[in-house]
Amino acid sequence: MTAPHPTKRPTDATYLDDRDPAEDPPDPPRELLTLPWIDIHNHAHTLSWDDRERYALSGCRSMMMVASGYHWTPYKPVEADDIRFLWDDAINRREAIERNHFFEAKLGLGVHTGVRIEDPEELLAAMDAYCALDEVVAVGETGVVPSQHVERWGVDEQRAVVQAQMELADEHGLPVILHTPNTASESKRAYRDGLGVTPGYEKNAGLGADPVLDGENPALECVKLDVAAARDAGLPEERVVASHADRNNTEYLMEQTDCYLSYTIGHSWLVGVDAADVADAIDEYGPERIMVDTDCANVLRTDPYALKRAIFELYRYGIDPDDIRRVVLENPRAVFDFEQE
Ligand SMILES: [Zn+2]
Repeated sequence: MTAPHPTKRPTDATYLDDRDPAEDPPDPPRELLTLPWIDIHNHAHTLSWDDRERYALSGCRSMMMVASGYHWTPYKPVEADDIRFLWDDAINRREAIERNHFFEAKLGLGVHTGVRIEDPEELLAAMDAYCALDEVVAVGETGVVPSQHVERWGVDEQRAVVQAQMELADEHGLPVILHTPNTASESKRAYRDGLGVTPGYEKNAGLGADPVLDGENPALECVKLDVAAARDAGLPEERVVASHADRNNTEYLMEQTDCYLSYTIGHSWLVGVDAADVADAIDEYGPERIMVDTDCANVLRTDPYALKRAIFELYRYGIDPDDIRRVVLENPRAVFDFEQE
């Protein structure tokens, strides 16, 4: 029993003492304030210095900066050298980024199929030596997509490029990070003509080519093609991390594969996935194959604090601190070659 409160008249604190202990809130999870976390999918080398500092300020321990996106290659169609420039730019700057912000920064290098590449064989041949670099801890992001920017790229050709990267990953003992297409979330209202569906995403939406896959659920079809490619490549599914996991692909990936699922929560306004989806997946399938990533990049509205915020949100949604630790720290360390302590 605490002494009577010295407040002039009763405040909430007076009555709180009489509460039924069963209704008391749990002790605050102080360990979450300083829990280190790993972002296994971002494009932080395209962000501002201040945004990278935000990662450090909010406790990022390690990250994987993914250099494969066609957003940063100006020419269409893309040539092998254009993608190679992206890899080299990330390699060039990586150590300075670590020195500036103190978190561990590793690289994912890959060939994304969101825009057609004229000479992919040349790129794949060069990729072997890149995969041998210490700082390269994954191949990707890559994965078949239903439609391209500007010019179509057939499904068979895309799948071949994806599988060739998986074979390389397997030879080098690396994991592959998949870009799985999201299904668009319902918007409350259409935007003015000509703005497309996604202001907040720096892309000339009108330049999208006609889809190369148009079945009932092309986004899920793509994930199935990727998993088939991994199987044909002999890449163990435990070394496949499907980023942009969502309600459309979770059941398939959890029940019919051994892949990891990484939920992208740095641009929830775009893909409709947030910490509540992660909490639901943990409740249903356990934390063993779940991760969270931000996918922060300079071409869209993203939040470098998103992963730290998700840690708190997962707790508020009822997830135990041990399970949170598992998805934001231990699972990334189990799959990717990050420092262990
Ligand atoms: Zn990405």
